[in-house]
Amino acid sequence: MRLISYEGVRVEDVEVAEAGPKGLGVFAARRFVRGETAVVGRAIAYPPQRTRMSVQMHWDRHVEMDAPATLLNHSCEPNLGVRENRWSAFDFIALRDIFAGEELAFDYAMTEHALVARLSCRCGSLACGGEIRPWGERDQAWRDQNAAWVAHYLRTSSPSGAGPRLERLSQR
Ligand SMILES: [Zn+2]
Repeated sequence: MRLISYEGVRVEDVEVAEAGPKGLGVFAARRFVRGETAVVGRAIAYPPQRTRMSVQMHWDRHVEMDAPATLLNHSCEPNLGVRENRWSAFDFIALRDIFAGEELAFDYAMTEHALVARLSCRCGSLACGGEIRPWGERDQAWRDQNAAWVAHYLRTSSPSGAGPRLERLSQR
């Protein structure tokens, strides 16, 4: 892989390797402390609809990122959160201290309101429900707990008018 540095985050601080049944994954090549940016994504394509490789930036906007960001797997117990960056994509921020050798992963519900297909989850965490569930299928408690580390648009009202407040009411 080409070694590039964005914003002081070195691509060589992570490594791409086999992640068992998940295929490739991204692993920490050094320790990251909580709050540190571990991976910087950069948009390379804007597909008109979500794809298996895209992440969602807004209700009607999807981007495909470069590597290694595009290779980050989902976890039901993630060690990364997301934050919009100047590359029209996401930075991935350590939610806790991460040790060298740990797989880096975020929860796809942090960016996806829906998924392109029903996806089984092999993250292996104790919290795993066996299926990747997008934001639209998460309860309010999960949303509140993770609100600081999700795509900004998920905290806004959807174009259909079914904003977080209405969804909260409809779940009761
Ligand atoms: Zn899982």
